[in-house]
Amino acid sequence: MHPGSPTPVQDRLRAAQPCLWTNPGRQAEVPPRLSVGTGSVGVEDMQAAVARFGRFAGLLAELFPELQASGGVIESPLLPTPALGQALGMDADAGALWVKCDHLLPVAGSVKARGGIHEVLEFAEKLALQHGLVAPGGDYRQLATPTARTLLGRYQVAVGSTGNLGLSIGVAASALGFRAAVHMSADAKEWKKERLRQRGVEVVEHTGDYEQAVAAGRAQAASDPFCHFVDDERSLSLLQGYSAAAPALQRQLAQAGITVDATHPLFVYLPCGVGGAPAGIGFGLRQVLGPQVHCFFAEPVQSPCFLAQMLAGPHDHPSVYDWGLTNQTEADGLAVPRASLLAASLMHPLLSGVFTVQDATLFQHLAWAHDTEGLRIEPSAAAGFSGPGMLTGTPEGRAWLRAQGLEAHLPRATHLAWTTGGLFVPEAEYHPFLQRGRAQPQAASA
Ligand SMILES: *Cc1c(COP(=O)(O)O)cnc(C)c1O
Repeated sequence: MHPGSPTPVQDRLRAAQPCLWTNPGRQAEVPPRLSVGTGSVGVEDMQAAVARFGRFAGLLAELFPELQASGGVIESPLLPTPALGQALGMDADAGALWVKCDHLLPVAGSVKARGGIHEVLEFAEKLALQHGLVAPGGDYRQLATPTARTLLGRYQVAVGSTGNLGLSIGVAASALGFRAAVHMSADAKEWKKERLRQRGVEVVEHTGDYEQAVAAGRAQAASDPFCHFVDDERSLSLLQGYSAAAPALQRQLAQAGITVDATHPLFVYLPCGVGGAPAGIGFGLRQVLGPQVHCFFAEPVQSPCFLAQMLAGPHDHPSVYDWGLTNQTEADGLAVPRASLLAASLMHPLLSGVFTVQDATLFQHLAWAHDTEGLRIEPSAAAGFSGPGMLTGTPEGRAWLRAQGLEAHLPRATHLAWTTGGLFVPEAEYHPFLQRGRAQPQAASA
């Protein structure tokens, strides 16, 4: 797979070749609070997000018919995927492949349901308490009354997005009665803009990349006291919302009979854009599952902004363009040129590593996920499936496993790929993805 002597990660990064970086700064013990930027996050913040989702469940079930069956709980299944593991070349000694199906998350159709909806709920809750629309501990279904909606309608929620965060924020905000504006980058898909417009969300189109869309939205919101800007690069509320996935996954693992301990490691592979979603989830998982969970972020070879950030350290903020890369990828959820410093500082002691994936491999794995297990995911969501091969099938991965004392435990390991989006991808978009993935030559793995 890597002919000749191993080239340093930097060379492969620059050449847009798949590579694996492992984090020398990872700590086995996690302090109860971690500093991020000028603030800090702790396990209480994760619990607060879980509690907030709980307070809003009744209202959410009323606002979204698709949440009636779950009583307003927004969650996704955890599935065993042995046939996909086989297609990926995992033998019995490599451990078992499971998938955390956030591509099925209701309301938003992606992992953004977690962070994005949380931040909208937090803003709504703050206003509702301030204006006496609900009493603390009261029934939040009050927020569906015309009086409450009129008040919330005086406020706007805005966001800059490549697509999925905009979908999540736009849909949640407009359902609660807010005005909503989504600043979209040039690489955002047309169907996502259309879906938002149908819900009365204002879509502002920008000709630049994701970073420019965020900056434009941030600037416009700063001058408007009735506008709350969801800042994907700086928001703690987003991180908090993502972290609420961890206690839910912990329960699902227990129900599935999956042990996570010193002789049963758990490897989690998380597709990474700006870093907020995988960092929030990774932070939560390290808090609830301890040092035996190893989080790896997965990025496209042309948009490895988080890897570039981890290589640079906290005093620099490089973009993928600085590495001579293009930020061009079909994985539109991951097409981000510069990482969130908040996410990077949070993950520095927590992250096990980052690997990169070619677009051709994303499509191949998208097709295999469909053809072996019936999973219908978008290209971004396929990034994690290179994880098992990167760890168990490359010299760098094997060396890291050996150094961590994990090699002997591989047969009892669980590999968990987090599929981060896909539910709302229209058939006319999905079918060409599938065709392209099926047309890939068999050798293009990892
Ligand atoms: C946004 C997104 C991610 C990554 O989240 P970040 O917070 O940008 O790192 C991964 N997959 C999909 C499908 C996404 O939409």
